[in-house]
Amino acid sequence: MLQPKNAMEIFQLLDRSNCQECGEKTCLAFAGAVFKGQKKINKCPKLDRKTIERFCEESEKQNTVEQNREEYLNILKNEIGNIDLAAAAKRVGAHFSGDKLTLKVLGKNFSVDKKGNLSADIHINPWVTIPFFYYVLNGKGLAVSQNWVSFRELKNGSERYPLFQKRCEEPMKRVADLYTDLFDDMVQIFGGKQVEKQFESDISVVLRPLPKVPIMVCYWLPEDGLESSLNVFFDETADKNLDIGSVFTLGAGLAQMFEKLALRHGFPEAGSYQ
Ligand code: SF4
Repeated sequence: MLQPKNAMEIFQLLDRSNCQECGEKTCLAFAGAVFKGQKKINKCPKLDRKTIERFCEESEKQNTVEQNREEYLNILKNEIGNIDLAAAAKRVGAHFSGDKLTLKVLGKNFSVDKKGNLSADIHINPWVTIPFFYYVLNGKGLAVSQNWVSFRELKNGSERYPLFQKRCEEPMKRVADLYTDLFDDMVQIFGGKQVEKQFESDISVVLRPLPKVPIMVCYWLPEDGLESSLNVFFDETADKNLDIGSVFTLGAGLAQMFEKLALRHGFPEAGSYQ
């Protein structure tokens, strides 16, 4: 079966009843899952065969990843207009004032207004915007439990864990091995907090890319002929306050940001994205 042309087309085809028969909580989540290649469009039983077939025939010209991402962001932006933003702010640990919801992303203000327009004290990267929208729209707002778990222990995390290691933990370890100021920068630049060493690590820093989705980075120095290692942990509520795809995006986005930081400080060999 061919991939759909873009996320907007998927969303427009759905009846928006949020009946959950596809296994997703909302039609919006389903459209996003199809867009990201995690679900086939025919998993929605409300779509008739003719529509699916027609849709597939017309989707031969696939958009670029950037176009698809733009379309998906537009869907999320439109959905913001359909929710009570003040109530959402209360739910997700944000502040609401003057028609704007504002929360902290890595210690910096990040806002959205009732029309879905974003403004922030930091660069607005796609790796932040999609999780940010999802968090505001669908996050349960559960209080952080402070029980740390690996990505593979989160719901639907185990099958994606090998890719998470490749896109998040391995590049972060490479940066940490070379650029020794990384953990200071996490604290000074990104509002992180060094915490009591966890899991017998040599250093543990907690970052907050979203208020109720903290991420803990633990690093073990090389010792007795053993290589250094680095693992990333999430609060056990992460898969309730965010979808697993967005959790993945945050981890991979942070790793890429640290690679760029190392590059700026003269460690090009720390980067894999070039
Ligand atoms: S089965 Fe279809 S209509 Fe129901 S929630 Fe999923 S996408 Fe929406």
